[in-house]
Amino acid sequence: IQTTMQRGALTIPSLVEYSRRMFPEASIQTWTGESLRSQSFAEIADTGAQIAHALTKLGVERGDRVATFMWNNNEHQAIYAGVPSMGAVLHTLNLRLSPEQAVFIINHADDKVIFVDATVAPMLAAYLPGTPKVQHVVVVNGPADSITAPEGITVHQFDELIAGEPTTFEWPDIDENDAAVMCYTSGTTGDPKGVVYSHRSIYLHSLIVTTTMGMRLSNADKMLAIVPMFHVMSWGLPYAAMMCGATLIMPDRFLQPEPLLQIMDAAKPTLAAAVPTIWAGVSAMLDAKPQDISHLREVVVGGATVPPSMIKKFDSYGVTIIHAWGMTETSPLGTVARPPVSATEENEFAYRVTQGRFPSPVAARLIGDDGTEQPWDGESAGELEVSGPWITGAYYDPAGNVTDESKFNNGWLRTGDVATVTPDGFMTIVDRAKDMIKTGGEWISSVELESIIASNPTIVEATVVGVPDAKWDERPFVLAVVRSEEDADIDAQRKYLEDLVPKWQIPERWSFVTEVPKTSVGKFDKKRVRKEYADGDYT
Ligand code: ADP
Repeated sequence: IQTTMQRGALTIPSLVEYSRRMFPEASIQTWTGESLRSQSFAEIADTGAQIAHALTKLGVERGDRVATFMWNNNEHQAIYAGVPSMGAVLHTLNLRLSPEQAVFIINHADDKVIFVDATVAPMLAAYLPGTPKVQHVVVVNGPADSITAPEGITVHQFDELIAGEPTTFEWPDIDENDAAVMCYTSGTTGDPKGVVYSHRSIYLHSLIVTTTMGMRLSNADKMLAIVPMFHVMSWGLPYAAMMCGATLIMPDRFLQPEPLLQIMDAAKPTLAAAVPTIWAGVSAMLDAKPQDISHLREVVVGGATVPPSMIKKFDSYGVTIIHAWGMTETSPLGTVARPPVSATEENEFAYRVTQGRFPSPVAARLIGDDGTEQPWDGESAGELEVSGPWITGAYYDPAGNVTDESKFNNGWLRTGDVATVTPDGFMTIVDRAKDMIKTGGEWISSVELESIIASNPTIVEATVVGVPDAKWDERPFVLAVVRSEEDADIDAQRKYLEDLVPKWQIPERWSFVTEVPKTSVGKFDKKRVRKEYADGDYT
């Protein structure tokens, strides 16, 4: 028997047109430094259509890559709407890459056009001599002369480029499996790798973001989207908002704790999303200068382990942290930690500190060192492998070759994360495989140790890496930021750990700094810490 159902392609243009008609009350609002400038979804769709017309005139065709080098703002949202809808592929470039990585990525993706925010135009200008295939640069939020480009590249000003263009576009028929957006991993190991999302994967991911297995994003929400639009599509928020009519508050370039708290005061968001280091900064600021942030129903925190002490701290502000796990390769939503209805007051917290449960239809398994599948008993650890319709099955290769085969296992993505899963499906990341510390033949989870060290109120932030040791092979080394000078006391810090971790895990080597180095997406840069401190120069 055959189904009687229609197909109905799951595509971004259908989302854009839906949001244009359906949500006159919802908006995209960007912080200017003093106030919010707001546009309706209809106005964003209008601009998206104008962008598509302008790009067509510049010769952009289906499948061509159109990049952005931009903050989270209204214009970026309009580009998110217009570029994939016309059948081109949006490539969001990370603003915090090293010049070598940025040049590599622009060339690898073969970007034809780059939209750039005027404030970061000088940075892009430095890359352009190395990217001969770029044809057009469009300056957004500033004059065209914000950038000087080498010969062969035409520079345009955004508002002038789209002025007078029609506000609707006859979107082409798009196959839901066509490429829509591409993102590169931040390259914490080796060259950055490209992941290409399809219209279908983005559509399905957007649906899950609006459910209780995702972020519960709804028409009633104002979401402060702190996680950059260049970092896994701001965790899918721009498209999920089009689906449910949530208002998005965009911080633009104002990502320090002080302006973030100003934005919260002005916009009173009900939800927010960002990596733990952002919230550590916000929390330190709140302690110095209290402000009511209980308008936040929940904040979604992921990208790195959320220390349990941070969850408690935010509880004290009246704000529930929802811990989530994901990767560029997983669009990113992989797990979300919402306790089950059966949770009691006693065990609820134990669920909240895990990375959470996998939403359907994401499948997961743990593979042990011996290659066998490990049980979900909450104790057996193995490499986490995942598969599903918004999980990548390969890395992008311009020649269409299969690359990085070692990252896949018969159709499963190998995450490189070591994890355990409880019988009721709650996953805990023990560590990244490459960050585990082996000392005297025993393993230490750097992540667990970091969380415990960070639970000491004298610590602002701390990271732990393994450093070579003649006797034990490796020992943990702590790089920490403390609240005040007198807290930079190794004996006192070690004493705090005495009742909390086994004696052999307590680090002897500590260094106190004013900031722990971070990667381009705001995570502790363990590769750099390891390199800088491997020689034993700890103080
Ligand atoms: P990169 O791999 O370049 O750092 P991603 O942002 O894609 O860029 O990082 C994905 C990785 O981040 C995961 O494989 C995992 O190691 C880590 N991660 C993400 N969310 C969490 C979380 N909630 N807890 C612990 N680790 C996390």
